[in-house]
Amino acid sequence: MIPAMRPVIVAGNWKMHTTPHDAGELAVTIARRTHEPDVVRVLCPPYVCLAPVRDALAADPAGQDVGVGAQNVHDHLAGAYTGEVSAPMLRGLATWVIVGHSERRRDAHETDEHINAKVRRALEEGLRVILCVGEQLDEREDGHAETVVDRQIRRDLEGVELSHQRAAEGTWLTVAYEPVWAIGTGRTARGDDAARMAGTIRAALGDLGLPGGGDLTPVLYGGSVTSASIDEFLAEPSIDGALVGGASLKPDEMAGIVARAALTARARREATPPG
Ligand code: PEP
Repeated sequence: MIPAMRPVIVAGNWKMHTTPHDAGELAVTIARRTHEPDVVRVLCPPYVCLAPVRDALAADPAGQDVGVGAQNVHDHLAGAYTGEVSAPMLRGLATWVIVGHSERRRDAHETDEHINAKVRRALEEGLRVILCVGEQLDEREDGHAETVVDRQIRRDLEGVELSHQRAAEGTWLTVAYEPVWAIGTGRTARGDDAARMAGTIRAALGDLGLPGGGDLTPVLYGGSVTSASIDEFLAEPSIDGALVGGASLKPDEMAGIVARAALTARARREATPPG
């Protein structure tokens, strides 16, 4: 049974693609092609494209309910941190933020300790956090995938407090399970592996004392998701959508992914007794 308030979410991570010149137009094209009121849609462009994307979406009727997210945030409010962007700087530009993406763990050497500080800061500043976790290929091959993800969740979220009220709103914290070996490689996990990992994630969230024992927290799958592969993941009741990288720059792909997500969202709504 899926808690009534767990939304279906499709978030696009544009990584280091698009420019302030072309990002707004792409965002509006995607918004128009994915106009599904039952699906929570979020686009996460590079920092410099946040304002053009925000403005372009706000000016288009199909774009007004599309969330805008940043791909990273600093854990301090301000200071001598050249090249960084703090949560207060994102105010008015983004309402969502991706934290702990594996490309930042790899390239910016972000540790679970850093990520924990970022999650706390982002939540304190009212951002909706998409926390990314996932194992490396050798960790999966050695049979340690679940241990690794369980440890990441516990370390990244230790001490994070989420009130029942905020949790009940559904999207203050979203976890994206992104096996590192599946990101940008064209390989995907299997739907049942992702579902098992969603169970591991929710058990750890429950142990940490998150409201609803983790059942209220959306868990997304990420890793080479396309309109052809999304079905396998959304067929799993424990998976609540996708964090999409490469395919999120392609309107046709996003249209297919969100259309499939809308089927899941509607099926969930119809299965929920009126309350
Ligand atoms: C991502 O960037 O979070 C991601 C999952 O990328 P891709 O879909 O390209 O594998």
